[in-house]
Amino acid sequence: MGFWNKKIECMDRQAIEQVQLENLQATLNRVYKNVRHYRKLFREVDFMPEDLKCVEDIKKLPFTTRRDLSLNYPYDMFAVPLREVVRLHMAAVNFDEPIVVGFTRNDIKSWGELIARNLTAVDVTKDDVVQIALTFGIITGPFGVQVGAEQIGASVIPMSSRKFEDQVKIMRDFRTSVLVSTPTVALGLARMLEEMDIDPNKLALKHAILGSEPWSEATRTDIETSMHITATDTYGLTELFGPGVAWECPAKNGLHIAEDHFLPEIVNPVTLETLAPGLEGELVLTSISKEAFPLIRFRTGDLTSIDYAPCPCGRTHSRIARIFQKCDDVVVIKGTSIAPEQIARLISKIIGSQPVFQLVIEERDKSDQLVVLLEISDSTFFDEMKKQNILLERLHREISEFLGWEVLVKLVEPGTFDSSRKVVDRRRLR
Ligand SMILES: [Zn+2]
Repeated sequence: MGFWNKKIECMDRQAIEQVQLENLQATLNRVYKNVRHYRKLFREVDFMPEDLKCVEDIKKLPFTTRRDLSLNYPYDMFAVPLREVVRLHMAAVNFDEPIVVGFTRNDIKSWGELIARNLTAVDVTKDDVVQIALTFGIITGPFGVQVGAEQIGASVIPMSSRKFEDQVKIMRDFRTSVLVSTPTVALGLARMLEEMDIDPNKLALKHAILGSEPWSEATRTDIETSMHITATDTYGLTELFGPGVAWECPAKNGLHIAEDHFLPEIVNPVTLETLAPGLEGELVLTSISKEAFPLIRFRTGDLTSIDYAPCPCGRTHSRIARIFQKCDDVVVIKGTSIAPEQIARLISKIIGSQPVFQLVIEERDKSDQLVVLLEISDSTFFDEMKKQNILLERLHREISEFLGWEVLVKLVEPGTFDSSRKVVDRRRLR
């Protein structure tokens, strides 16, 4: 098992804390000087950057939420002038409350370093051929992987989200040895190999790095056994680079957080008090190396716990437990983050009133399916088939177009579901 930057990845706790303190101090100075939002917040709690004496002092500062980021859209959270920004990306597909993030040249370099560590941890080397089956677009995902893989010297195939048949053909012809995708795509490829009657042993594929949506251990076993490979989890958020925040080593016992770039905290999502290691709560991250878009105590909305115990791999950076759930109602399906309010707005535009609805996520044929249940209170409506079909067709078309993949819509009578629950996730993730 390899290390990309052994000195950093294996430094002792005292050294990690020293690096964190120095990087945090520099970050606080930078945001206080350059980001009005933070300057205002710091003054409100009477905290000056020089008041930071130890890493723990960060708890005196308020949190940053996605709402703060969209309120400061497009450039007010940037800590450098735009002429120093070499890349712009957006978080998720939500154009109602958009979030734009920026990278300086050094940020791109840091991102590459993080991905290079992730890849090397699972034995990817310059001899590998890396097929990136993530959509190249406005979101960050595949771009970071590309930079990191090229930094290692591996050969990158930016396959993006082409159909499974094309992916398999390239995988076979180009001798792909590493797949980077969502677990849903990896499962789709596994099924396509069976359909095309291709023996996985005849391929060069040996490993898959999967992320950007929750996936169960059962899914991992399915992917590993049907493709004859190993598969590891990776975690990141567009607001904090994208992929490259934390990743599994071959021990598969949690995801190592790059603690020289991020300061992790776990808080109770309701009371916001800090939770001890091992307790599950919301992951809060401070980016301590970012130049263009540093965030202080950013609430990720992801539920996990943190473990500082030594890992057999030798890495000293702490590990977060695999993430299966969000603490708000936001769900991730097929790599897309969906907030129920987005769907509510879409439906209300169509039906002309506030909808009573529920989002149900189910597993069908090992793939995730979103079912939108919409309550129709007018009982005579159900007798008029034509009217029903027109409405159903429109809802189906517009919601599917919005998300970029097919959903199922069902019209139901009042009382069919518990309308206080906007999201019911029936996936067996744990
Ligand atoms: Zn490890």
